[in-house]
Amino acid sequence: MPRTYYLTTAIDYVNGRPHLGHAYEKIAADAIARYRRLSGFDVKFLTGTDEHGTKVARAAEAAGLDPQTYVDRLSATFREAWDALDVSYDVFVRTTEERHTRTVQRLLERIRDRGDDLYEGSYEGWYCVGCEAYKPEKDLVDGRCADHPGLEPRWVVEENLFFRLGAYRDALLAHVEAHPEFIRPDSRRNEVLAVLRGGLDDVSVSREGLAWGIPIPFRPGATVYVWFDALANYLTGLDFADGGEDLRFWPADLHLVGKDITRFHCVIWPAMLLAAGLPLPRQVYGHGWVLAAGGQRESKSAGNVTDPVALVATYGPDPLRFFLLKEIPFGKDGEFSRERLEERYNSALANELGNLLSRALNMVEKYRGGIPDPGAAREAAVVDLCDRATIAWRHAMDRHQLDEGIDAAWSIVAALNNLIQAREPWRVAKDPHRAEELSGFLYALCEGVRIAACLLQPFVPRTSLHVLQRIGAAGDYGAPVAETAVWGRLVPGTRVVKGEPLFPRLQPT
Ligand SMILES: [Zn+2]
Repeated sequence: MPRTYYLTTAIDYVNGRPHLGHAYEKIAADAIARYRRLSGFDVKFLTGTDEHGTKVARAAEAAGLDPQTYVDRLSATFREAWDALDVSYDVFVRTTEERHTRTVQRLLERIRDRGDDLYEGSYEGWYCVGCEAYKPEKDLVDGRCADHPGLEPRWVVEENLFFRLGAYRDALLAHVEAHPEFIRPDSRRNEVLAVLRGGLDDVSVSREGLAWGIPIPFRPGATVYVWFDALANYLTGLDFADGGEDLRFWPADLHLVGKDITRFHCVIWPAMLLAAGLPLPRQVYGHGWVLAAGGQRESKSAGNVTDPVALVATYGPDPLRFFLLKEIPFGKDGEFSRERLEERYNSALANELGNLLSRALNMVEKYRGGIPDPGAAREAAVVDLCDRATIAWRHAMDRHQLDEGIDAAWSIVAALNNLIQAREPWRVAKDPHRAEELSGFLYALCEGVRIAACLLQPFVPRTSLHVLQRIGAAGDYGAPVAETAVWGRLVPGTRVVKGEPLFPRLQPT
């Protein structure tokens, strides 16, 4: 039985259309999912939309729609965006689905039935609608939420159902300390450790008189606190309410989330799971943000929101995927601009990869009419280069260092381009005594291109497929890398397809 690998993105809050930050997370998760599939894992990849809560109800009202119609429309735009970007999710959860309602209710009942972690209490204090969370006085900066300085916190007085979060502090702290891999990268881990060391307050898990939410079965008139609702989606995707066989995917191997919501995933969520008697996820990874040029966060109010679907319409999915994964060191923030995307498109995709493929195919066609027979001419340096690249690629990808993974694959592309310049095969072709040398070199060139394409699959899947098709190795697409990233698979005599340039150069606008 192959080992399972369950990874999730955050589910997106549908109070607007998908922006580049949403896209970045899905593309990164997709690269990880594809890497795991290529490594022989039985992968389940979940994404979805978070559709309850005050903010959504207000946005629907502002749009003049009832909430369900509103979220139906918005959720569809997220799904369409991920499809356009070739995000290969297996499950798309919407929190307004009936299966999710049953999951949340079952989880709450399970927590209630296991002990006294849910209790009646009253809360009086500040509430930030931006966070959908209570804010202790000590966390406010000049009377405002640090993450939402533009929103006035509300003073609320509520009779609520509370979750005994504080009782889990010691267990959580011990877990985080004993498992350095539980929260990545270290900067996020240190933030969570500081929160835990500072102590935890209990949290209210019911909302009174807020209709747009999941009803609490044992508390008439109350709905479930949005974070409790949203976090449970990771179980919905596994058929938790029905105890389905997909539960073999639990615990999750990876929750990939933005750094701003790492705390919810590293404090509230594991406490909920402990209270329900369920195993904890193996890792929560808090990735960085895509910033606009100049380092600003994109926001509707700043008027600098980038529509990822418009970028795909102009450039195709792979240039955007390549740019975001290569240019942003994974775990840190990075900047995006169309100018830099176009510059990388021309310099890397068109000039380096596109040219390499077209030169290799042209020479193979012109001098040999197909993949040549290398005979005894073995290009040991190229074989070695590909082996080292594959090892570096695995090492990077096992740690989700996606930018380093691309660099490893790209080291083959760069080296082969240099080798063509150094070896001048067009000169070798003029000397009939060097026929075997030429065949060996061209074979090595094609094998190197093939292995590079195999290693690039997680990042630029369409491009990898096209390269493999043209070089006569379409069967390698999607096959385990343990089989494909191995020297000598190209069959001499195989026809190649020159075709159009992979990445036609963009003209400066
Ligand atoms: Zn806030």
